[in-house]
Amino acid sequence: MRVHLVNPSDVAFGTAVITPRWMYVIASATPRDVGDPVLVDETLEPLDLASLQAGDVVGIGIHTANALRGYAIGKAARERGAYVIFGGIHATLYPEESHELGGAHGVVKGDGDLVWKSVIEDCRRGEPRRVYEGGRVEGGQFASARWDLLPPKRYMWASVQTVRGCPKHCSFCSVWRTDGQKPRQRTSDAVVEEVVQLRRMGFKFIALADDNFYPVTFTDIKLAEEQNNTARLAELRATRAERFELMARLAQLPNDMCFFTQITMEAAEDPEFLDAMRAAHIKGALVGVESVTPEGLKDIYKEFNAAGDDLVERLRTFRRHGVYVLGSFIFGLPSDRPSTFDATAALAQKAQIAFAQFVMLTPFPGTVDFIKWEKSMESKMVHIGGVPLTRRWLIPPAQRPKLYWEHPVMSMDEIRERTQSVWDTFYSLKPTWERSGFIKSWKGRVAFTLISKLYRQMYADTGIATDSARLAWSARWARVLAKPTRLLFAGRPMPELKVPASVN
Ligand code: SF4
Repeated sequence: MRVHLVNPSDVAFGTAVITPRWMYVIASATPRDVGDPVLVDETLEPLDLASLQAGDVVGIGIHTANALRGYAIGKAARERGAYVIFGGIHATLYPEESHELGGAHGVVKGDGDLVWKSVIEDCRRGEPRRVYEGGRVEGGQFASARWDLLPPKRYMWASVQTVRGCPKHCSFCSVWRTDGQKPRQRTSDAVVEEVVQLRRMGFKFIALADDNFYPVTFTDIKLAEEQNNTARLAELRATRAERFELMARLAQLPNDMCFFTQITMEAAEDPEFLDAMRAAHIKGALVGVESVTPEGLKDIYKEFNAAGDDLVERLRTFRRHGVYVLGSFIFGLPSDRPSTFDATAALAQKAQIAFAQFVMLTPFPGTVDFIKWEKSMESKMVHIGGVPLTRRWLIPPAQRPKLYWEHPVMSMDEIRERTQSVWDTFYSLKPTWERSGFIKSWKGRVAFTLISKLYRQMYADTGIATDSARLAWSARWARVLAKPTRLLFAGRPMPELKVPASVN
């Protein structure tokens, strides 16, 4: 019996940007006596079905966007006599779908770190259970990834997780509902050991695959103080102290390291935290700006963000402290107007953010927005190829609409075209070269420009474009750019690198 772990994808680029961490974590949770799992990341190349034998276990991790491909793999694997087990956010939200459409023998709901061992044991006995409740594993029990199984020279960035869960409650986001609002932090020992292992292998660039790297804000602390809630205050302070402890250890790593994370804008109020990030080589962060107007922020329950000039100032604060921002913006909010697109593009440039992504408001399963949208569709359900629109991930990609709700003043096509145009403007050559000005060397500036172009090809066109010619062109270009770009990220292996000592 062999264990295969599959990360489904309809598009393979040959080289990928970030390691799919879940595969290496579940590989680590696989009992050693069944042998090393076979890892198949379809963003590199498609699964070879002939490699599956009767009695093998095939673990498929799905999110909503790759669920349909995952189901096709599951059915084919079951036909070959393998045990098929689904996991991931989408399988957690819709376990029955994996059974009905994906040929599942079992579904893991929640975290797989601890429960995966039982899955393997049950399959070995020929008695997989229909559902496994993985729950929310405490930070101290997260499995460390099996980086020794990583194929060489295929990924630009490795990924390490330091915390799961986010205390916020944004209406378009499922993280706080699936991973919970209580931050679950790993110990600095566990994080640093993984990071050092990766640097020894030659990875200089590591994504901290966290839901929110800044889980305690000044507002949280102030509120607990005002309420005289000593237990809560102690908990918040301990969480914050652990963040600083981790960053102090990361700061002892070689200077060529570069981490990237996700963080809320409130971190701009906390210069001590930003300085610790910079010292820890955390040089970039995705910041969910979402909307540049107060009305837009209200639409999505994200009023803790800033808007207008205050927003520009906050984003510039990150940069002043040496943390470069990938700003994430959403278009298609009810309060958006045609002028919002130009205003957003101008603000992104004025705020001097290094990268930006412009996504269209989409109701994702597991979010408050999705629940509201699903309810609103009850009386006027649209079907495409027999599939209700509220199960849109089951519609074949070529027929899948790009926007799902009516906007008060713009058509869906108008929103899509205007969004595409903002990507085009932001990533055209001149402004991209200008944005690279913060980098001193020419080589660095060329690398920045190449990466910007690659980012745009991988995410903008493939995500928004509707015509197949443009999609194919984007995928082709991403493939061509990906290989040389990977070389820009590769570092000299440092097999002798020591694990930085604990600072306490
Ligand atoms: S969008 Fe970010 S801040 Fe909001 S709930 Fe999700 S992870 Fe938290």
